[in-house]
Amino acid sequence: MQTHFSTQQLADPEIAASNAILRSCVHCGLCTATCPTYVLLGDELDGPRGRIYQIKQMLEGAGPPTANTVKHLDRCLSCQSCMTSCPSGVHYAHLIDHARTRIARQYRRPWSERLLRWLLLRLLTSRRALRLTLRLARGLRPFARWAPGRLAPILELGATQRPQAARSSTPGLYPAQGPPRQRVALLGGCAQGVLAPQINAAAVRVLNRSGVEVVVLPQAHCCGALAHHLGDTRTTQRLARAVMSGWQREIEARGLDAIVVTASGCGTMVKDYGFIFRDDPDWAGCAQRISALARDIVEVLPVLPGDPARAEGIRVAYHSACSLQHGQRIDERPRELLRSAGFDVREVPEGHLCCGSAGTYNLLQPGLALRLRERKVAAIRRIAPDVIVAGNLGCLTQIAAGIDIPAIHTVELLDWAGGGPLPESLAGREFSARNRAG
Ligand code: SF4
Ligand code: SF4
Repeated sequence: MQTHFSTQQLADPEIAASNAILRSCVHCGLCTATCPTYVLLGDELDGPRGRIYQIKQMLEGAGPPTANTVKHLDRCLSCQSCMTSCPSGVHYAHLIDHARTRIARQYRRPWSERLLRWLLLRLLTSRRALRLTLRLARGLRPFARWAPGRLAPILELGATQRPQAARSSTPGLYPAQGPPRQRVALLGGCAQGVLAPQINAAAVRVLNRSGVEVVVLPQAHCCGALAHHLGDTRTTQRLARAVMSGWQREIEARGLDAIVVTASGCGTMVKDYGFIFRDDPDWAGCAQRISALARDIVEVLPVLPGDPARAEGIRVAYHSACSLQHGQRIDERPRELLRSAGFDVREVPEGHLCCGSAGTYNLLQPGLALRLRERKVAAIRRIAPDVIVAGNLGCLTQIAAGIDIPAIHTVELLDWAGGGPLPESLAGREFSARNRAG
């Protein structure tokens, strides 16, 4: 694609990076059919090729973006499905990230939208604030219908989510069983630490059983991904620097073989620190080291057989989170681990399409998110699973709200198959003789 930036504009490293991405797009349109919003809306402006063109127009101009451009860019899920299908290697994710930053700096949203975004950022990145909000939201739920515009979803969130007692995102050292073969840091997580601490508890048990020592640092909880996707550069950098400084000290003091993340949305972010901080002389080196060590939990687990009495015949719908399959290009490994543990893993039709979770997307674009969830749930029902499995809490929460089949994290199921406790959401479920008979 031709671009028309001035020499002065190209002196800005962010514009220079986006210019290189824009120029790599040949406008072939092969990405369009795999874009969830294009599939739903059928509008070129709501597909990747159309968005790339709108971003080019926006960045080339000096003034604030138009309301129409913001509307179409806001509808993008940042799912990165278009990157998987692009034959020219266009790094759309970095382009849309830059566009969101520009919008946050130059575009004045309506006050209710600004308030919603401000609240989401403060509430979802602080465990204490999220706990308090969920409790408050449960009490205020009857008043949700009078909440101004898009604030209602926050109150609705309180109706479906409860803060869990922190059982294991607790900072500390978790020793390996037997001689340690590896030493890793585990990201504690912000929202996940409140809503689903059992995920990291399962990860710690599985890692310890496979000879891995785990350290959870008190500073390492929020990676900054939510702020990043809202275009808030300052908050992103503050949160990311806090986790990086903790891990850097740990690397220097005792050494780390890997930095493990159980939420694939956060893992994609940590793997991108090297790019995000590339022009920061104080942090570029540290960010690159940390990105090089970052691993999703499925990348560090060994392939192990599970207890056949537990796993055999249980039909698993594996939902491949966008941030894992497109963002980190990890698709087969979770299936391999689940199959080797003895589960009957089935493909979810249209597996490349997003479920509509996408960070805060289901709160900011509830209509489109609902349509995507309904489509995903219908696809899952077609394979009649006993359990739905994914590697990202956002997807699990989004899908679980639309279906009566339990949805749990990959590592929870692997932990149970390997001798860990039964995941709470599977308690009382009898897996059918039909499945056990194949
Ligand atoms: S597939 Fe790649 S090169 Fe083709 S239009 Fe989409 S982003 Fe551009
Ligand atoms: S990131 Fe996802 S929603 Fe956005 S343009 Fe690409 S495929 Fe479409």
